[in-house]
Amino acid sequence: MDFKLTDTQRQFHSAVSGFAGRHLNEGALRRAHDNDYPSDVARMLSEQGLMGITIAEADGGQGGSLMDAVIAIQAIAAECPRSADVIQAGNFGAIRVLAEFGSGAQKEKYLTPLLAGERIISLGMSEPEAGSAVTELKTTATPDGDGFRLNGTKVFSSHIVHADVVLAYVRFGPGTDGIGSVLIDRDMEGFSLGQPVRYMGGDEWAQIYLEDVYIPPENVVLGPGGFKRQIAGFNVERLGNSARALALGKLAFSIARNHALEREQFGRPICEFQGLQWKFADVLVDLDAAELLLYRAAVNADAGFPSAEETAIAKLACNRAGFNAANEALQVMGAAGYSEDSLVEYCFRRTRGWMIAGGSLEMMRNRIAETIFDRRFDQRPPKPAD
Ligand SMILES: Cc1cc2nc3c(=O)[nH]c(=O)nc-3n(C[C@H](O)[C@H](O)[C@H](O)COP(=O)(O)OP(=O)(O)OC[C@H]3O[C@@H](n4cnc5c(N)ncnc54)[C@H](O)[C@@H]3O)c2cc1C
Repeated sequence: MDFKLTDTQRQFHSAVSGFAGRHLNEGALRRAHDNDYPSDVARMLSEQGLMGITIAEADGGQGGSLMDAVIAIQAIAAECPRSADVIQAGNFGAIRVLAEFGSGAQKEKYLTPLLAGERIISLGMSEPEAGSAVTELKTTATPDGDGFRLNGTKVFSSHIVHADVVLAYVRFGPGTDGIGSVLIDRDMEGFSLGQPVRYMGGDEWAQIYLEDVYIPPENVVLGPGGFKRQIAGFNVERLGNSARALALGKLAFSIARNHALEREQFGRPICEFQGLQWKFADVLVDLDAAELLLYRAAVNADAGFPSAEETAIAKLACNRAGFNAANEALQVMGAAGYSEDSLVEYCFRRTRGWMIAGGSLEMMRNRIAETIFDRRFDQRPPKPAD
């Protein structure tokens, strides 16, 4: 067992970090408060080879490992937290399912511009009555000629306000086995969005209405029976979520550390108060432990997708450690940390959301418990006896 990054990984981290320090650090606070998707950053990161890091070179990616992508997202987030969303979208999100399961024609039409940072994809999974219970989704795909007609409503999709295409989970038939996924272009007839709503993190979502949207057969990514494979791909998204939570917690920690060294009260730097020293010590232990769990899940996944169990453990640890670090950093900085001219305030808001997004803390605990007891716990009430 080796707890160190390899020389190549360290060099990669240092190169990405140096680039982000030179090109992204300066606008970090402005971007944190800008609702628009940072498309200029997407194009810049694409030029640097930081989109599609884990995607095969034959498909236009970099052919790297999941650990490489984790290193990149952490290095970018440390300099500009908002820009890490671009690394998420270009490496960990719906794009990964498309790259893994999409047809050659789908990759050519959709993946290529996404990797270039020219288009944006959004994931349409959650529905008004299907949040944690995602397999309850109701959006239907009904055969019509060679293709399908889509009807239903999606909620909470990140980047939907700016997206060109949606990877939507839909129902071809009853039960979990009836679920698959399709690509929907924003300009398709019958596709519309509701009023944008702002998340606490600053980014916006809008309800997606699908009214008799016709999709040709070539827009089906995974037909009925595809759900398990989609969720295997979604575990990659969860590690991106974990990596950002951790990175934003670490950033807030480091800003608060510098503040504690400089800020004086009662005639001495506040880092001399033991009450604050212990806060920092506890936060560091949590951040370090979470990072090891994140790296374990990413390294073990290099041959494919990360395991559901290691992903759930990493996400729970990183979400908690990241939010706790940001929360404590804000407290250490007093009113300065609670103000919008500090990135700590932004880190606090964003890390809070990731405790819900991509599977809530409670759902991660449910998954971990299933491993502990080596059995499945159905969350639905027992069916009434006949
Ligand atoms: C910042 C952000 C970004 C998001 N981005 C996307 C996106 O891009 N695409 C998309 O499709 N969705 C997205 N979502 C939605 C996200 O996937 C859901 O919010 C999440 O699955 C939880 O569903 P819900 O909000 O409906 O909560 P609910 O499922 O209604 O849960 C409410 C509460 O009950 C708890 N709970 C529910 N069931 C159980 C159980 N069995 N055991 C214990 N506790 C339980 C939950 O943990 C939660 O605390 C995003 C959400 C956020 C916050």
